[in-house]
Amino acid sequence: MIDRTRWKEEIRSTLATAYGLDIRDGWKDLVCDLVDRIEASGLRWQLSRVAEHFGGLSFRTVIDPDDVTQAIIDHAEDRSWYICEKCGAPGSWDLSRGWAKVLCPPCYRLWDEESWQPRIGNLP
Ligand SMILES: [Zn+2]
Repeated sequence: MIDRTRWKEEIRSTLATAYGLDIRDGWKDLVCDLVDRIEASGLRWQLSRVAEHFGGLSFRTVIDPDDVTQAIIDHAEDRSWYICEKCGAPGSWDLSRGWAKVLCPPCYRLWDEESWQPRIGNLP
């Protein structure tokens, strides 16, 4: 089980590269639950990248997962379209500012006021 209090360190320790974790705290439970489920399956696996891509979660493993594991990953990626990437509240996908994001209304309003700027490369 991933320790939620130090989840970034624990996720990074499973990564194949040092640069593979690029998500905000709002998806903590989503990603930790996903890793816990895969590890509980007993499969040998290694994470290569966990990132936001075009507003949604992108979860990649070093070797293509089997169908069962892929279904677990697909389910988590699908859920990310409805979870604010910043705080974890229910959110919705938005492209109106030119950047794909899944945010809740309060985080959407704060987006410009805080300095968590959209990242270059967020769009295809
Ligand atoms: Zn939020």
